[in-house]
Amino acid sequence: MSLRDKHIVVLGGAGFLGSHLVDRVLNDGAVRVTAIDDLSTGRVRNLEAAQRDPRFAFIRHDITSPIPHSGPVDVVFNLASPASPKDYESRWLETMRVGSIGTQHGLELAHAREAVFVQASTSEVYGDPLEHPQQESYAGNVDPTSPRSVYDEAKRYGEALVSAFGRKKKLSTRIARIFNTYGPRMRLDDGRVVPQFIAQALSGDDFTVQGDGSQTRSFCFVTDLIDGLVKLAAAEVFLPVNLGNPQELTVLELANAVKRAAGGGSGQIVFRELPTGDPKRRRPDISRAQSLLGWSPRVSLSDGLATTLESFRAA
Ligand code: UDP
Repeated sequence: MSLRDKHIVVLGGAGFLGSHLVDRVLNDGAVRVTAIDDLSTGRVRNLEAAQRDPRFAFIRHDITSPIPHSGPVDVVFNLASPASPKDYESRWLETMRVGSIGTQHGLELAHAREAVFVQASTSEVYGDPLEHPQQESYAGNVDPTSPRSVYDEAKRYGEALVSAFGRKKKLSTRIARIFNTYGPRMRLDDGRVVPQFIAQALSGDDFTVQGDGSQTRSFCFVTDLIDGLVKLAAAEVFLPVNLGNPQELTVLELANAVKRAAGGGSGQIVFRELPTGDPKRRRPDISRAQSLLGWSPRVSLSDGLATTLESFRAA
């Protein structure tokens, strides 16, 4: 299936990933693109370019209420959720509701329109993983009562719901397990480590490393991630697929990489308390995406950080 000439609905379309997806499918020749977002963490200004395109429409709506729709829909992407630990811990009930009832409403829309449904899931379904790197067959190590569980368990429930709609209602579904992603349009204050370190580099503040900085993450540049999502939507792959960049580094290494990319700066590295439940290691095994989608990330960390820094400087 190609996304050309299709009507694409993006739930969470004003967010970081959602808005990049909107731009990409418009660029690829979608006939109509509708972004639905309640603007709780998304921003209209992310859709500035899309708003100039007559094929694009924005609907402000909270998908925990049934989703208004008219006419045919070919693909529904569900990217609606707070996604940074800071956002989902402050919006804890909204996060659980959008991941559960919101996902159900998205699935009902796809079912009513016989559309493909693509769920943005997360590496957080693996929790603090005991298997490394993480393959899709790993069932995870989530503490159901930790502060992160509001997001992790909502996303795990979302996967269960998507899988059940696929089995019971013969809906054509996809599940992307998205690992740490960064790039232009992240909010500088969303608390995630890349925008946080960039904000600190730009203002000359100290870099706040949580814990001793030995915990690892693997960071994927946004254009690569969106490419993976589009390829997944177009493929007949019903199993969950990891999407992320397997280049793993410690948080301390990331702080130094951002410092270098920003040209040094006056900030020092300072250490703060590690939040409860912060996973120790995370790296995707992307062999499934490579073999079934022909996808691998292409943008290096230094190029991705340079582009991101430039966009934040210009903002
Ligand atoms: N982190 C940090 N300093 C910050 C923000 C985050 O050291 O100012 C760490 C955080 O403790 C975690 C990693 O960076 O180990 C990634 O955090 P983020 O919130 O970006 O995403 P996560 O992968 O934890 O969901």
